[in-house]
Amino acid sequence: MRCRSCGYEGPPRPEVLERLRIAQGELSRLDQRTRQLDASAQAAIVRALRTRWGAIVVLSLGVLPFVALAVAGVAEGFEEHPGLPLANRIIGVSLTWVPLLVYACVGGILAAFVGRARRRLLAASAAIPPERPGEPVTCAVCGASLASFGTSPIARCGYCAADNVVHPAALRQAATARSFDIDSIGATTALRAREVVSAASHASAMGVASVVGTPPVSFFAVLALLLFAKAVEPYIALAASPTPRYAWVATKRGKCVGLIGERDGVPQAHFGGNDKLPNPMTLDTLPPRFAPSAIVGRTMRLANGKRGRVVGVTGAPVTNREQLVLDSGAHGDLPGACAEE
Ligand SMILES: [Zn+2]
Ligand SMILES: [Zn+2]
Repeated sequence: MRCRSCGYEGPPRPEVLERLRIAQGELSRLDQRTRQLDASAQAAIVRALRTRWGAIVVLSLGVLPFVALAVAGVAEGFEEHPGLPLANRIIGVSLTWVPLLVYACVGGILAAFVGRARRRLLAASAAIPPERPGEPVTCAVCGASLASFGTSPIARCGYCAADNVVHPAALRQAATARSFDIDSIGATTALRAREVVSAASHASAMGVASVVGTPPVSFFAVLALLLFAKAVEPYIALAASPTPRYAWVATKRGKCVGLIGERDGVPQAHFGGNDKLPNPMTLDTLPPRFAPSAIVGRTMRLANGKRGRVVGVTGAPVTNREQLVLDSGAHGDLPGACAEE
């Protein structure tokens, strides 16, 4: 008898034979079930070998609001905004893409955890791949050849009745030349069983976590970013447009600031988010216009009813409406703000 692995020729030495006999006895005393995969481990392995279509569908649906926001941002960015500085426009569109990036990152990280848990499960339950092509796959517990197996990804060893995953994806994860200590075969086998059970439950839990976790985790990450942006807003305030494009317009609410535009040669005033004023309002003549900074120092009433002296004007990234900052700390759209006499 000649060993394929090391080339040893001749009968095994007596003390090796004795150790093999002990190992055999230990293996046969061990409950066969410690070498076999229970229903939940088998299900986890079958799942680990499958593409996660369910997860892909759920995560694709979950990403829709984030995609919608990014698309809306680009659409708004391409709209005509006379006088809007280009930098404000670029920053505005980029901001609408942040939630989508957060979603992709969270989803990618959780998917990577799922992949790692699945690889660990397959590695723990895999058979030993052949050392050379053409040689048989062997049992990870006793080393016997796993000659014939059908389409099932799990093969039961004909000698020791251990379950081995023989799917190519699992064999790729398996150690190519696994050596096992025949003196501790019982402990090694029990360890393998525990490793498979823990890897199976970990892979299942990670799969659920990635599907259930990605949308809410992304949502709260974006919320945290918004709160952070709110906190740093005063420090990264965008420049107001220097273009003189605002004018005082007499309305039923008094003298209010309108963003002046033209449509088919007819001057129009827009009052931003102020829904109490006509939007747009057609004007008889083009009024004299001023730049946003001209309003600093005046006492104004915002569309939301807040009043105060204007201490600053900041640019808006996407909506192209300059924001008034009042001495009270309140802020709101410049168009649609009215003079407080
Ligand atoms: Zn050998
Ligand atoms: Zn075996």
